[in-house]
Amino acid sequence: MRLTIIGSVALDSVETPFGKKEEVLGGSATFSSLSASFFAPVNLISVVGTDFPKKYVRMFKNHNIDTNGLELKKGKTFRWKARYHYDLSYAETLSTHLNVFEGFKPVIPDNVTPKDNLLLANIDPELQDFIFEQIKPKGLVACDTMNLWIERKRKELLKLLKKVDLLLLNDAEARQLSGESNLLDAAAYIASKGVRMIVIKKGEHGSLFFSQRGLRFIVPAYLLERIKDPTGAGDTFAGGMVGYLSKHSKITDQILRRALVYGSILASFAVERFSVEGLLRTSPEEVRKRYMHFEKLTKS
Ligand code: AMP
Repeated sequence: MRLTIIGSVALDSVETPFGKKEEVLGGSATFSSLSASFFAPVNLISVVGTDFPKKYVRMFKNHNIDTNGLELKKGKTFRWKARYHYDLSYAETLSTHLNVFEGFKPVIPDNVTPKDNLLLANIDPELQDFIFEQIKPKGLVACDTMNLWIERKRKELLKLLKKVDLLLLNDAEARQLSGESNLLDAAAYIASKGVRMIVIKKGEHGSLFFSQRGLRFIVPAYLLERIKDPTGAGDTFAGGMVGYLSKHSKITDQILRRALVYGSILASFAVERFSVEGLLRTSPEEVRKRYMHFEKLTKS
């Protein structure tokens, strides 16, 4: 099954205790698309400015990512600047410049169909909703978000959640959205807003899965010796998980569990290097190897 992904394509400037990079490729849709492309063909819907290097568009195409929906608009590409301290689970946002995303109303390309799965990667929930209404998807609808939107666009986000099958967010965001400190209570609150399945990501401590019909499980993060830049870990997790689900016409409990493990594994490659380098250097064979090693590490 094809997967449509909408979100940001960005130029990021990031500093971590292990180095610093200026204006490198980033964005929620970038990480999600590259990660999902290990499992399914992707249609990317986003916007970049005239300053966006063409080599990145070629790179997307070389990874089975259709860029018909990647609009080139006069102006500057979305920019995000952040710093991480030794607690890599928290990004201190120094600046966010929406640039070409201001007023962006994408035209959905003809090859995007309602039967494709849809991943609304992190971006303004009003834009996520606009895309949803343009496509009127019949497949799985997954959504990611962040603290900025929970704070500034809570009403719009809650409206969107009624239409979402699977919501992915981190523990701090789950607490912020629900006003609950216990994550089980937070998941119950989110489910009461209409979401069928919820993944709460806990960074290096793994992720939790909850479904409205009572299924719960926990997946650890893959143990890594070297982490250089956690940027995009959440987006990569979402892309890997939803990409893997898109490979299957029927989603069973076992496939859901595996999808979470693949999300974790793809994220482990992303954080080993700055920007998308870790994902670009990885092969499907490496992903499979890490999956097998992960099974060994978690067997009791
Ligand atoms: P993550 O580390 O998974 O939370 O995602 C980091 C990525 O999200 C970076 O590459 C940023 O370019 C992108 N990003 C940061 N803030 C926003 C925002 N407000 N909307 C959309 N994308 C964002």
